[in-house]
Amino acid sequence: MFIKKDILQVENWITNSKNIVITAHKSPDGDSIGSSLALHFFLKNLGINSTVCHPDKMPYYLSWIEGTKNILTYEQNENEVIEKMASADLIFCLDYNTPFRIGKMTDHLVNSSAKKVMIDHHQDPNTEFVDILFSDPKNSSTCELIYEFIEALEKLEYIDNTVAIPMYTGIMTDTGSFRFPSTTARTHNIVGNLMTNGLNASAIHENTFDTNSLSKLKLNGYAISEKLVIMPNQKVAYISLSSEELKDLNYTKGDTEGLVNRALGINGIKMAAFFKEEGGYVKISFRGKGENHVNVLANENFEGGGHIYAAGGKFDGKLDEAIAKYVTVVDKYVK
Ligand code: 5GP
Ligand code: MN
Repeated sequence: MFIKKDILQVENWITNSKNIVITAHKSPDGDSIGSSLALHFFLKNLGINSTVCHPDKMPYYLSWIEGTKNILTYEQNENEVIEKMASADLIFCLDYNTPFRIGKMTDHLVNSSAKKVMIDHHQDPNTEFVDILFSDPKNSSTCELIYEFIEALEKLEYIDNTVAIPMYTGIMTDTGSFRFPSTTARTHNIVGNLMTNGLNASAIHENTFDTNSLSKLKLNGYAISEKLVIMPNQKVAYISLSSEELKDLNYTKGDTEGLVNRALGINGIKMAAFFKEEGGYVKISFRGKGENHVNVLANENFEGGGHIYAAGGKFDGKLDEAIAKYVTVVDKYVK
């Protein structure tokens, strides 16, 4: 996967670049934040500056990670991000497989004269706009790929805790705390190596998962007790929240993270979805298990994509219409 010729080329670009920009997908998660910061601090340990530029703000449950305050977002620092991308000579594209996944930053990326290196684990990468692609859809996470990238560079000794902490966070969140089928012996070996070198893994779980606000708990409680719908014939479950409900429940970005997995976790359920009404459109999370793959469903019906068991998409219209469409089409995708 990490071909020697490509690794040497990227190493050469890293050494000779003045402005390195690290990008990752919109609606950031543990893997996009984690891979961006792991790469940023690895480069810093080599004595090389880089700037992390993301489309939008990150959820609060990751804000404890060192370096998150220095991430520039297009949402909050538009001019600075545009300037950074225009003057970059090397741009890393992490945890996304098509330029559209970075929202309003897409044109600035595509039009930048910088060399572009993609490191990603989503299926069917769009390779047209990148110079070098490191893609492995079987890999658990982009963070695991960052470890392998550093290993291929023969620079594992530059992984200290500033690198290992965000790296572990991304592997942990993208594997559902080491339970999804994408978790391999290799994943555990990598984590073992990080721990051998001083990583405190349990502190990361605590910082990420044991910092819930009471309003998040109440929002999730309401969603499960009042808004969970089960389609018994199809063995499908879904939850929806309107913008009005989100407002009433004091919703903060990150509050619904993992909610869709509660629906999938019901005994016998094969597929689950979560619909969230955001200004003017509906954002949807899809989950599946066994033979029930959701990336195709997301792609064919909701302008989205992702992984076979975890995908996302959107619907331009009202919440009820989005749900109606899902209820109509889902039959076709449940095995
Ligand atoms: P989540 O439901 O946690 O937001 O996303 C699950 C997975 O689907 C992630 O890997 C994410 O990158 C991907 N994903 C989420 N939304 C979209 C989307 O709108 N388009 C595409 N292509 N992938 C998405
Ligand atoms: Mn990922």
